[in-house]
Parts: sequence; C-alpha cells; structure tokens
Amino acid sequence: MTRIGVAIDAPQYAGMSSLLTYESEQPLVPGTLARVPLGRREVTGLVWDADFAAIDAAAAGTPPMTLRPVIEAISALPPLPADWRALVEFTARYYQRSLGEVALAVLPPELRKLDDTAIAKRVKKKRDHLLPEAVGASAQRPELTAEQAAAMDTLAAWAAEPAPPPTLLFGVTGSGKTEVYLRLAEQALAAGKQALILVPEINLTPQLEQRFAARFPGRRLVSLHSALTPAQRLQHWLSAHLGEADLVLGTRLAIFASLPRLGLVVVDEEHDPSYKQQDGARYSARDLAVYRGHLARVPVLLGSATPSLETWSHAQTGRYRQVTLSERVGQGALPTVRLLDMATVPRAAPRAPPQALAPQLVAAIQARVARGEQSLLFLNRRGFAPVLHCPACTWKSGCPHCSAWRVFHKGERILRCHHCGTQEPVPRACPDCGNLDIEPMGRGTERLEEQVAELLPGARVLRIDADTTRAKGTLEAQLAAVHEGVVDVLVGTQMVTKGHDFRRVTLVAAVNPDSALFAADFRAPERLFALLMQAGGRAGRDAGIAGGSEMWVQTYNPGHALFEALKKHDFAAFATTQLAERESAGLPPYSHLALLRAEARTEDVAEAFLRAARDLARTYPEAADVMFYAPVPPSVAKVAGFERRQMLVECASRATLQRLLALFTPELPALKNAHRGIVRWAIDVDPLGI
Ligand SMILES: [Zn+2]
Ligand SMILES: [Zn+2]
Repeated sequence: MTRIGVAIDAPQYAGMSSLLTYESEQPLVPGTLARVPLGRREVTGLVWDADFAAIDAAAAGTPPMTLRPVIEAISALPPLPADWRALVEFTARYYQRSLGEVALAVLPPELRKLDDTAIAKRVKKKRDHLLPEAVGASAQRPELTAEQAAAMDTLAAWAAEPAPPPTLLFGVTGSGKTEVYLRLAEQALAAGKQALILVPEINLTPQLEQRFAARFPGRRLVSLHSALTPAQRLQHWLSAHLGEADLVLGTRLAIFASLPRLGLVVVDEEHDPSYKQQDGARYSARDLAVYRGHLARVPVLLGSATPSLETWSHAQTGRYRQVTLSERVGQGALPTVRLLDMATVPRAAPRAPPQALAPQLVAAIQARVARGEQSLLFLNRRGFAPVLHCPACTWKSGCPHCSAWRVFHKGERILRCHHCGTQEPVPRACPDCGNLDIEPMGRGTERLEEQVAELLPGARVLRIDADTTRAKGTLEAQLAAVHEGVVDVLVGTQMVTKGHDFRRVTLVAAVNPDSALFAADFRAPERLFALLMQAGGRAGRDAGIAGGSEMWVQTYNPGHALFEALKKHDFAAFATTQLAERESAGLPPYSHLALLRAEARTEDVAEAFLRAARDLARTYPEAADVMFYAPVPPSVAKVAGFERRQMLVECASRATLQRLLALFTPELPALKNAHRGIVRWAIDVDPLGI
C-alpha cells in the first residue's frame, strides 16, 4: 500500500488543505483522475504531488489515522500533464482558492460522472474516429500588406526564441490582426505544435471557427466554451488533451485546456472584461495566458486596438514586446468622428426630455438609407425604459429586493429587475395613488428602436440585444439579415459593436455614452474608449462604398479629453493621460488591488465582518505596507434581499499583497462563523469592476 495525495473539490477551510491523503495498492502518477471516498460520499479527485513530510510534521503528536483506500483510478485517461498542474496551482494560489476546487472546476463536468470503463470507451472512440482523417492541402492565403509582412517577420523571429516574452499586437480595427493569428498558427502547426486561440465572446467563436477551418482544411479544430453540451465539451476537451486537436478556439475557460503539444497562445481583444471570471476563482484568462506561455516557454500574442492599460504599460516599459499595425487593410479609412453637443439641440419644450436623436443625425441616417448604406446606433441599455414613474406622486418602479429599478419592457408588458430577475406585469395604474397615466423615464434600446422607426418612416429597423437574441439561432439569423442588406438601421447594445464585420455600415452613432465619463469606477473611461473605438471600427470596412464613413457621438461633454483622443483615433494619447492619472492616484498598474466582498441580511453585519477581516489582516507584519479602505456599498448595494459591502485592499507590491492574502484568507471561514448573518464572502484579486 502506498500513500497518495488527492485534490478534491472542497473549499479550503482554515488549517485544512483540499489535498487529502488516501492509500492505494499501486502507486498512482500525479495528474491521474481517481474516485475516492469523502465522508459517506464518493467523489472524483485528482492525484497530486503531496508533500508528505509536511503532512507528517503537521500531524505529529496526534494519533495516527487509518487511511481510506482509493475506490477506482481512471487509468483510461492519460494523466493531466505537469504544466497543466502548475497552471492550476498558480491559479489557486494567486486567486486565493483551494487547489482541488480550481482543478476540478476547470475540467469538463462529465469527467466527474463517468467511471473508468465509460471514459475508456470515449477515449478509444475519439482515437478511432480521428485516425482516418488526413491533413489536407493548405488553403489559399490572402496577400499580406507590407505592414503585416513586416509584423510577421518580427513575430516569427521572436517565436523562435527559447523563452519569448509576451507580445502586444497593437492594431487598429480592420488592420488584419486575424490574418496574423492565422499565419502564426500555421507556423506552430507546421512545427507539430498545438495553437490555443482565446476570444472574448461565445458569439464570436462560430465566425472565427469558420475562418480557421477554411484556412486549415483537414486539421483538427475544436472549440471550448460554455454553450457546448456536456457531451460536446468532453469530446472537445479530450481531443485537446489527447493531443489530437491542432487548434483549440475558445472563451476564457479554454485557458485550462490540457494541451500536450502547446506551441502558441493568442488572446484576441485582450482588453475585454469578459476574460475575467466573476465567481468562484475569479481568474483573468488573459493574465493566465501570459503565465501559461511563461510556463510552457511558448509565444503569447495579446491582440487589441485598445489594449488594457496594464498591457499597454507593460509594453511601454519593455516587459512585453510590441508590434503595431497602424493601417487598415484595403482602402477603408477610419471613420470621421463627429461630436454632437446635445446642449445645443433644441427640445420640444423648455422642460421636455432631450430628443433621442439630434435632427442632424437623423438627416445623416436618412441620406444613408437613401443611398442603400447601413447605420448602426448603439445604446448600452436594453428594455424600453430603465424606470416607470408616476407624475402625480413620487412612485417609481423600484425592485422590492434590490437597490435598483425594474426595467420596463414594453413588448412583453412587464417590469423586470436585471439584477435578481424578478418580474411582474406592468401595473394598470400607479400602485401608490391610482393615477392611470404612469410614464416611462429614460430610454433603452427597445424605445430607441420605436423612435427610430417614427423618425425614419419606411426605413427597415432591426434591434439586436440580449432580449431579442434569447432563443438559439436568433442572433445568427439577425446578423445574416444585416449582411444581406435587408436592414437599413441597426439598433443595439454593445453586443453589436464587438467583432462583427458589417461591410455596408457607413455610419455608427453612440446615442448616450456620457454616464461612463463620471462613473465611480476608475476603469470606466478605459472601457468607454475601447467600446467607442470598437464601435467606430464597424464603419467603413468596405472600400467599395463611395464617400467617407462617420462616427457620431451625442454628448453633453464635447470638450472631454476622452472624446478629443477619439476624434484623432489616438489610443496612445488617451492611454498616456489615463496612465498619468492612475499614477498620481496610486491606481493599477501602479498599485495592486484585492477586493473583499461580503453579503449579509443587513449592512451592519456585512460591514462588521469586513472590519474584523481588516483587523485580523493587520495582525500580520505584511499589513504595514498595505492600505485598507473603509467598507463601502457597490453600485448596486442590495441584490435579491441581501446587502452587499466591499473593502478595497491596496499595495504597491504585488508580492506583499499576495503574502498577506495567503496569510489571512484561510482564517476567513472561521471569521464568517463568528459573524452570524454573513451569507457569502469572496476575495477578488485584481478586480475589474469596483
Ligand atoms: Zn402615483
Ligand atoms: Zn431585483
């Protein structure tokens, strides 16, 4: 009998690692999947390298425990390789979660359910199925522009280095970044390696998948994202793990694909917030990609037209390398940016709400409709109106469970809370005073769609947002309608601004982007700038269309520095001012943050827990260099009946912050038990939303 350490999916309690010791008749290789007893249950765990000397030292003086035997080792599945385990260990340590929790959570859920025989069957099927496939001839490749060719030469030379540092591919929208990804993947494949390509949105995977499949006929390409069925996800994951998939395309969870022949990692739109996981281990797939590249000594390419300020500053200081694509492929020029000062737009009456679209913008759209060109209007708020109100009293459609309004959805005749999901039919009269004339306040995409149809009679208007695309296949059908040209004006949320290649769009308008200028979150301007640049990038991609393309911005702050930089398409200028502000305020990337969150029935309990956590952290000497902010409510303080509070922890040194978190986090479960009424707590390292 030998002793083995097994990582199991359990949160880490103070003093208890998620690595448990079992005994086994045969020695088991680390990375082997095994079924083990846990209490009265049977769970799936992963055999891990255990430090038995440390375990023995910790147990010294206590009576020896009888070890329970492993129930079954899943020998049909090749063990998870050492670099995959190193990535998981790093993730668990850095994001303050238990090892087993991370290890099991990132595997396909089906693996936990199947026994050795069932897995053996699937592995064999996969291998039999893939054997007959042959590598086809390589497909036609477009000619590279001089700029792309120069970039490729540089990147290929760097990729050949033994341990290449990460590289930022800074390229304006339409500059042909994808072609660079394709060429690098081609080189990796030719060298017998696997390529991992990360994209921010599931919606963008089919499009990219087609492009890669067309370029690499006969090569094995699999996708990994949360919209796959459990069986598909297992099949695709196995294909990667067995080394048979040459290309793996996926969203953030794909960063944990097991890839024995990994040769390249690409992170497209690296600035996109969706790379950050928002529950469980709150990892950043972009940051883990950098770490993974470092572990495997393979090139990591971070692509963006508007890099995150962290990545940009690393490229500026030389920690990352940079390659720039500053020209659009073909003749399509970047759109002319027109700032529309909404303060000068006349209103229907002195106290009337502002018009949805300024008359100049309506005229510009009209001219496009007449020429057979398309316009795209975006507004980051879905529903008809964010709130209903009663002009006779003070009633507003608040959510009874959250500190938020319930949004009026006119088509469905309901009020829905976008935070907790509760909904009810729109009341016939004001619930407080009985007034029959309750009115919508503000504007969402549903209302904008209606108003655009009124302003432009005869124009074909289509709305795309989370509400119109709920049913499977509707987004694809709607996008196809735009491509076929049966749509004149497209109205949507930021969903329509990402990646889609609309050839006939020559006008893009941001209807109401101002709120992000003055948001409490220090990253709001960065996100707004990226969103506007990306939206503008949808315009004028087809060189065949005569006349210039335009981007209109309706704003009450036309003099704002962000818009000045936008007008010149000058990301570097924007980044320089933002970084100077961040530096003087001591914000990332000049400091490192962690956010401790707590949820409780009352705000007092949540705040007391956070303060106690701070006091506990301060008992360690590392806390001397760490700043603790006062507990504050997040932008939506109450959700589904629970009060939420958060405490920001800041330190100039990432290492000191990490050491401190590792010291006091294990004590938080006990602290939670001492604070009755705490429902949940979590630590978010490098938080994105504050
Ligand atoms: Zn009323
Ligand atoms: Zn609610």
